[in-house]
Amino acid sequence: MLVAVGSLVIIGKVSSPRFFVLRLQELEGRGFYLRYARTELVRGFETAWYRGTVWSVIVSATASGGLSYWVSKRIMQRLAEMEQITQKFAAGQLDARLPLSDIPELNRLSTSFNHMAASLEGVEQRRRQLVSDLTHELRTPLTVVRGYLEELTDGRLELSPQIYQMLARETKRLERLVNDLQELSKAEAGYLPINLQPVNLRPLLESLVEKFADQILEDGPVLRLECPPQLPPVLADIDRIEQVLVNLLGNAIRYTTEGSITVRAWTEPSKLWIAVVDTGIGIAPENLPHVFERFWRADQSRNRNSGGTGIGLAISRSLIELQSGEIFVESQLFRGSTFQFFLPLA
Ligand code: ADP
Repeated sequence: MLVAVGSLVIIGKVSSPRFFVLRLQELEGRGFYLRYARTELVRGFETAWYRGTVWSVIVSATASGGLSYWVSKRIMQRLAEMEQITQKFAAGQLDARLPLSDIPELNRLSTSFNHMAASLEGVEQRRRQLVSDLTHELRTPLTVVRGYLEELTDGRLELSPQIYQMLARETKRLERLVNDLQELSKAEAGYLPINLQPVNLRPLLESLVEKFADQILEDGPVLRLECPPQLPPVLADIDRIEQVLVNLLGNAIRYTTEGSITVRAWTEPSKLWIAVVDTGIGIAPENLPHVFERFWRADQSRNRNSGGTGIGLAISRSLIELQSGEIFVESQLFRGSTFQFFLPLA
């Protein structure tokens, strides 16, 4: 404001009388006789210019000063409010959000702060959930082991091979839980080394089907492979794909007592699909959205006995996503389930 008013006054002061005198000379050149009135005219012009300038400086300085004060006060108020809210957030009140403002720049700042706050709140929620899930999962085997050890110490229980087996099973469960968790946390954080290479998955599918067929009891389901003789190469880490398929086939065998388990592979433009289809117990529609969540199991007690940790599918999903694929599930209760994923072609 000061620069604008200052330059207006200086330029006006220097140039206006000069232009006025030039104009008078031009009029004299055209034959007007101004010789005696000239000094009066110049003085009158200067007085008028001076008055006009003083008034315009007063009015414009007041108007622009008032306006700048009002605008900066609004901005400062908003900034102070934002500072308070960010301090609250930093102090641990994670649901604190900045109000939207009618100043577009501040509005953008509030929106991005709120996005950041929401994602931090999500991380914190997931961390709390993980700790509570973990405590729950660790407590069961620890309680069993402690119960047996106390009874053995008191002499209420005799040592027997079954007790040893029970203790070994529970400690193995703890070990598996810790290993799975480590794998999952690495996969979710993207720390798992993924060695992407063009690979042909057919030999892997054949060898896995052969290996798992040996584990199925004679009256169990039939395991078969439906795969075209030539598969185009996919961009993937073969060890990680094997890990996913072992988990899917292991689950299919665990939850299927009769019928069939089919490993199917087919191609689409730019994608290779692999599906593990079983005719097992299936998953209820209300449970389907939770299948890939860590620690989720359809029936806690049944699966605890069968040794599952509920982490396998969460790891599988992270592994597939790390290889730019996606995994899906379809299932009908008591009819069977289909777990299928795609990988990009190399
Ligand atoms: P788990 O180690 O318990 O099998 P997963 O993450 O691999 O953990 O599976 C989570 C849960 O999803 C299982 O406990 C089971 O209830 C359900 N599930 C997974 N695969 C199947 C399947 N093929 N048929 C029926 N239920 C399944």
